[in-house]
Amino acid sequence: MSYALECIAVFLAAYLVNIFYITVFYHRGLAHRSVRLKPRVRKFVIWTGNWVTAIDPKAWVCMHRMHHQLADTLLDPHSPVQSGLWKLMLVQLRSYERTLVCLMKGRAPYVAAVRDLDFPVNWLNRKGLWFLPYTLHAVIGLVIGTASGAWLLAPAYWLGIMSHPVQAWMVNALGHRFGYVNFENGDNSKNNTWVALLVMGEGYQNNHHHQPQSPKFSVKWWELDLGYFLCLVAEAAGLIEIKGRLRLTTQG
Ligand SMILES: [Zn+2]
Ligand SMILES: [Zn+2]
Repeated sequence: MSYALECIAVFLAAYLVNIFYITVFYHRGLAHRSVRLKPRVRKFVIWTGNWVTAIDPKAWVCMHRMHHQLADTLLDPHSPVQSGLWKLMLVQLRSYERTLVCLMKGRAPYVAAVRDLDFPVNWLNRKGLWFLPYTLHAVIGLVIGTASGAWLLAPAYWLGIMSHPVQAWMVNALGHRFGYVNFENGDNSKNNTWVALLVMGEGYQNNHHHQPQSPKFSVKWWELDLGYFLCLVAEAAGLIEIKGRLRLTTQG
């Protein structure tokens, strides 16, 4: 394999691991419970999630549920309608930090949003060690680069595994700004085909806001929710159980 292809393969593999955690475990599993994580898998995700993705599972779920409740209003933790497209990168980071702090301080609306989650904010964040996952993955990248003698594999790995802020920006900004709608949800959610392809179905924000409890975000025959495919793989591997198998129907 050529050097460039090796870098792309390593980036994609690391990107896939991150997105698997976020879309299958955090989003469809912990946040909406449209897939049920097997008890041992759930424990493993709670234990490893922050290390793998650099994102706290409890804070992610809290912020995401608030986004659903308050989509595109002034109180939405991340809406391009309120902040504009580019500033949203900073807004989503600040909202995440505020969510962590408010959860740790026991602020009522934040705690209430995740009352069903029987685990605390990860100790990395409680101890102010949020940067350790970034460091760990830099070390792993350097080991891969050193062992293979292909140094560019190090940044390829690191950028892939630590890609959540960029994935999130694509979904939160573009998925609430550009695209078509299947449903009138009363918010600015759109179905963005490119984002859906790049972020495993998460770009179908309009479908998802219409029926958040559906494990499948695609509705029309030509819409492709690769995240649902990941769920099917995870179910076949005995990691999760897909609940309901709801099929969305379009209006009209
Ligand atoms: Zn949304
Ligand atoms: Zn959601």
